[in-house]
Amino acid sequence: MKPFTYTSAKNKDQALQAFTENSHYLGGGTNLVDLMKENVEHPDQLIDVTNLDYKTITSNDKGGLTLGGMLSNSETANHKDVRTKYPLLSMAMLSAATAQIRNMATNGGNLLQRTRCPYFFETSMPCNKREPGSGCGALKGMNAQHAIFGYSDNCIATNPSDMCVALAALGATVEVQKTDGSSRMIDFTDFHRLPEDRPEVDNNLMPGELIKAIHLTEPKFSEKYYYLKIRERSSYAFALISVAAGLQVKSGTITQVGLAMGGVAHKPWKLSKAEEFLMGKKPTRENFEEAAKIALKDAKPFEANKYKVEMGKNAIVRALTQANEREV
Ligand code: SF4
Repeated sequence: MKPFTYTSAKNKDQALQAFTENSHYLGGGTNLVDLMKENVEHPDQLIDVTNLDYKTITSNDKGGLTLGGMLSNSETANHKDVRTKYPLLSMAMLSAATAQIRNMATNGGNLLQRTRCPYFFETSMPCNKREPGSGCGALKGMNAQHAIFGYSDNCIATNPSDMCVALAALGATVEVQKTDGSSRMIDFTDFHRLPEDRPEVDNNLMPGELIKAIHLTEPKFSEKYYYLKIRERSSYAFALISVAAGLQVKSGTITQVGLAMGGVAHKPWKLSKAEEFLMGKKPTRENFEEAAKIALKDAKPFEANKYKVEMGKNAIVRALTQANEREV
């Protein structure tokens, strides 16, 4: 591991002031420290931001909750108001990693975690995300777990987060602390980016910006929700495919729907066309199947991950069905 300096910031001003070109903010370190040990990341400085006061869960003016960026994943997922108002988010977060990792990992860090593409971790292999211009080992290599949407010839990796799939379905907004001391808001679907010709850049944060909070709107899916995660083993594994589904049904008609997939793209994949199709429809299996067909229509799989298309359709139908049939 390359030597680095460690700075503990007591507040945001100290954190922003300490930031230099090759610095990284340090939350729980559950991903970043691993990457440093593997020599994938090599910052000159770590700025510990775990003492910043971004650790509350408060009500916001949209009738929803604002979740602090420095709260741990466990504190968030197990919070009484999150469990009752956004159980879809709790369910997704509690499916991730292990209890020990969730105790350390922060909400901001969860949004910033990097792909688990094996070529990204293996420094003897080409990887444009780790070393721009070196090539993509996965493009013609082992890519059974890689993207089927939105990739480029430069990178076909997927985003590994479960939390982010639920946040995409819930229509969250990210509040960002800018380096000049002011804040800005980013719609969750615009927070992460597609690889295009800059696969080394995962999101739309500017250098030195911090994730202050995640804003959720008025709860819509506190009764009918499901997070389905399909993985190779039932614990401590990333999703091959995941689906976050939320429904609101009034008088037998769908009045609100939130739908997103994980394990299929460089960012959480919001299924806007399928959502549009379902609005105003009856929550029937036929409509769920049609929504799933719409959702996967533009998938462009590789030979090794063709299975994701059929698996994705089935996962959407199952997640919507489980959400609809949930006993409150
Ligand atoms: Fe690297 Fe992306 Fe290719 Fe994986 S898919 S080897 S992360 S460039």
